[in-house]
Amino acid sequence: MNLDSRTELLNEFVETCRQAELSITPQRLAVYKALLRSDNHPSPDMIYKSVLPEFPTISFATVYKILETFDQNGIISKVTALHNKLRYDPIKEHHHHIICVKCKKIIDIKSDDLDKLPIPSEVKEDNELIDFTVHFNVICSECRKKD
Ligand SMILES: [Zn+2]
Ligand SMILES: [Zn+2]
Repeated sequence: MNLDSRTELLNEFVETCRQAELSITPQRLAVYKALLRSDNHPSPDMIYKSVLPEFPTISFATVYKILETFDQNGIISKVTALHNKLRYDPIKEHHHHIICVKCKKIIDIKSDDLDKLPIPSEVKEDNELIDFTVHFNVICSECRKKD
């Protein structure tokens, strides 16, 4: 994520909070900034550790609750992956994921071709499709080197 899009997302965050009537507390701001600082779809634990230096007294439960609030208000989204670890994504633009099954690294990709993927009829039949994300499970180059 480059700096421009970070600033843009931060502005958007402030705006979304205003619309949702969520007050922007110092803790909430710190959690959101921690999300933006991380380039790798952080887990609640990673975010907690990243906020600690600034807020030594904040609890994991508080951080977790803030993330849930963000998710409920569409500020961030959960990445559903094969491994049972919750990971958050601050990028709102439609994108897909390359996931390393070994080191759990998640890389964002944008692809017009994937966005145009034919949707199977089972999906569309009785349902209203909201969104979809393609996950490519890989063993990344770094992990391949280690083997
Ligand atoms: Zn890897
Ligand atoms: Zn992503």
